[in-house]
Amino acid sequence: MAFQPDLEMMPRERLEQLELERLRDTLGRVYANVPLYRAKFDEAGFDLASVTSLADLVRVPFTVKDDLRSAYPYGMFAVPLHEIVRVHSSSGTTGQITVVGYTRGDIDRWSDLMARTYAAAGATADDIVQVTYGYGLFTGGLGAHYGSERLGALTIPVSGGNTKRQVQILKDFGVTVLACTPSYAQLIGETAAEMGVDIRELPLRAGVFGAEPWSENMRRQIEDQLGIKAIDIYGLSEVIGPGVAAECTEQNGLHVNEDHFLIEIVDPDTLKPVPDGEVGEVVFTTLTKEGIPVIRYRTRDISRMVAGECDCGRTFRRMQRVFGRTDDMLIVRGVNVFPSQIEQVLMDIPGVAPHYQVILTREGALDNVEVHVEVTPDFAFDEIRALEALQRRLRAEIMSVLAVQVGVKLVEPKSIQRSEGKAKRVVDLRDVSKGGILR
Ligand SMILES: [Zn+2]
Repeated sequence: MAFQPDLEMMPRERLEQLELERLRDTLGRVYANVPLYRAKFDEAGFDLASVTSLADLVRVPFTVKDDLRSAYPYGMFAVPLHEIVRVHSSSGTTGQITVVGYTRGDIDRWSDLMARTYAAAGATADDIVQVTYGYGLFTGGLGAHYGSERLGALTIPVSGGNTKRQVQILKDFGVTVLACTPSYAQLIGETAAEMGVDIRELPLRAGVFGAEPWSENMRRQIEDQLGIKAIDIYGLSEVIGPGVAAECTEQNGLHVNEDHFLIEIVDPDTLKPVPDGEVGEVVFTTLTKEGIPVIRYRTRDISRMVAGECDCGRTFRRMQRVFGRTDDMLIVRGVNVFPSQIEQVLMDIPGVAPHYQVILTREGALDNVEVHVEVTPDFAFDEIRALEALQRRLRAEIMSVLAVQVGVKLVEPKSIQRSEGKAKRVVDLRDVSKGGILR
């Protein structure tokens, strides 16, 4: 059940009082200790003493990734460097890396939050957890590791890579819980099959999967392939790393750890909060972080709040699984589309494997979108008619569900590059002269 039931199931009224106290404390600390926040607050004419309810949060200026970049490496830290015991950083695939620092207290709370995550997936101290998130500056590996140890589970720090060895360990060590990206879970399943190992027959029973957007259909496919319950987890290094929010076994939205993080959903254009249940950009304010608190941090992740109470008894509100980042949003002939929405359509159609890439090219002034997707190994790839019929069906399904016209190209099994970490779903070839953007 819950790792900290007295906190995770506390009455909303008490929670909101706690949030307000912690918000005021955090705002005071960043104003006193972080020049960037002091400048922002002063410039906006924002008076700390005027915060008397959580509703006052909307008057506080936002923080964006560029703020963290400009403060590289330590400029956003709210405590002296000697109080920092660890740093992590973002991957830096889309620009200069950003550095985040943790005090001993931050590491302690983070461990609790990740222990909550495993417990929400149904794990206990009796479980054997294989962590295949990368260990290092990326928060995934060590975050998942400390949480598993905090829960009391047997923790295997394999880190990423060497997929055959991952399968061997999964089998030999009697692993019951797998922590990795969803696309890597697929690759482990595929590799096991090639090695003649039937994962469905092994003790493995749950997966905590995060660090990339994935669709509900992909979840079902992985659950079927591995014979497990697949749980979606969410986090980002700027806020703390994994452990910000996680699904429970109800699998209907991710409970946000609201005693540590305030969540808002805002319209990415107007930056005004959207009505409850509407889609927008996710914004977080940390309530207990000491090393590097963030105030109204714009994550660029797109989601919405899930209405109602959860049957599991947790009182924390739920956010829907993130279905994309504003950076990854494709605008196809004026329609907004995320790769995970295309994935959702693809995974519903027999004959298609869960491996795809969205290729963007430019012809004159028009953007071209072509989805490359693998057929399943049992599909007769040399039967042109069957191939054409399947391509037509995929185009039609995408058109009917997403209302966009995209090209579809079927490719042979295993021809799309597999990833041991975050899958590369979008290949942008529109401006190769400037180096192109591959992500
Ligand atoms: Zn729940």
